[in-house]
Amino acid sequence: MGGDMNLAIIEKEGLHLFVAELLRRKNTVVGVKDQSAVSSIPGDSGFYTYAPINSPEELTLSFDVTLIPPKKYLLPAYEQLLTFNLSPGSIKADAPKEELIVFGVHPYDIIAINQMDKVFSTVPQDNHYLERRKRTTIIGVDPVKIAPRAFWSSMGADTVAGGFDLMLTDIGQCYVMEVGSKKGASLLKMAPKTREAAPAEVKERDKVRTEARKRCDANRLSFSYLELPSLLDGKEEHVIWEEKSHLCFSCGTCNLVCPTCYCFDVRDDVSIDLKKGSRYRTWDGCLLSDFAQVAGGGNFRGHRADRYRHRFYRKGQFIYRRFGDIACVGCGRCSAQCPSDIADPIAVFNRLKEGI
Ligand code: SF4
Ligand code: SF4
Repeated sequence: MGGDMNLAIIEKEGLHLFVAELLRRKNTVVGVKDQSAVSSIPGDSGFYTYAPINSPEELTLSFDVTLIPPKKYLLPAYEQLLTFNLSPGSIKADAPKEELIVFGVHPYDIIAINQMDKVFSTVPQDNHYLERRKRTTIIGVDPVKIAPRAFWSSMGADTVAGGFDLMLTDIGQCYVMEVGSKKGASLLKMAPKTREAAPAEVKERDKVRTEARKRCDANRLSFSYLELPSLLDGKEEHVIWEEKSHLCFSCGTCNLVCPTCYCFDVRDDVSIDLKKGSRYRTWDGCLLSDFAQVAGGGNFRGHRADRYRHRFYRKGQFIYRRFGDIACVGCGRCSAQCPSDIADPIAVFNRLKEGI
């Protein structure tokens, strides 16, 4: 060892031992599990989910995409925020306490997390989110398998410069492991069988990344994603919104599976004597019919086409104007999971570009 260990090599066997060591030290590790064995759909080639890992054998690093993004660990689908009691009159905020290692996060999902970090640290800060984020270690991995509907290579999301603690790239016999933070550097010390990466191995990493990017180019935007904010200007009345949304079930799946969607609803559960209760939040989605409903029953987006259009504007223009990010990282989850196959941003944006 020695030298600059910003780029290290870890043998495959060493990685196995590394995961075992993390577990032995009682860390909570979540990672990607291949769920094909539990699929009940004949001929299903399988699917992947993030779940707790109890042994290194349970972890898969060669996945294409997971059903739900890792945002579920930073912004849980259900999260209690506080409890209150009128006698003796107390309010107690719930604070996230668990330390978590998320092992195996693709660059596009890390970019989505970086976007959420920006949103939730903007005043008024979201302390629950920020506390979880602080307690979460992210070990990234470059994709080797490409999901059939992925288009991250078109969205500038094939690699990521920061937001991870460690980043792994499978270069065949071993992994290149990039250190992205102090936390990552101290984790690396725990990993057996590591050494500094040789220049040829770093080149090999570039090659692996370029090849993956080329394969992902099978689905692509016909123009630069940075043109999206201006492309959407003046397209509010385009026929595509009515035409496509005719098939929309308003199920909200495209929101829930999206790594850059972070909207939530806050509710109170109050005891029957109105003396105590709790406040919690749950995921919400702008495609759900009551999302923009207000007191008195008014609904700012009561029509399906308005909700459908809103999502594309949010991805391509609204978040960019507020935070400087295009809020689609090309994971392809919405495209793959929409029951009507109308949620694919590539299909909508390319058609708007063609002007038909
Ligand atoms: S809009 Fe679709 S493709 Fe883009 S980040 Fe969200 S789920 Fe992924
Ligand atoms: S997943 Fe498809 S059907 Fe469901 S709300 Fe989104 S666009 Fe509509």
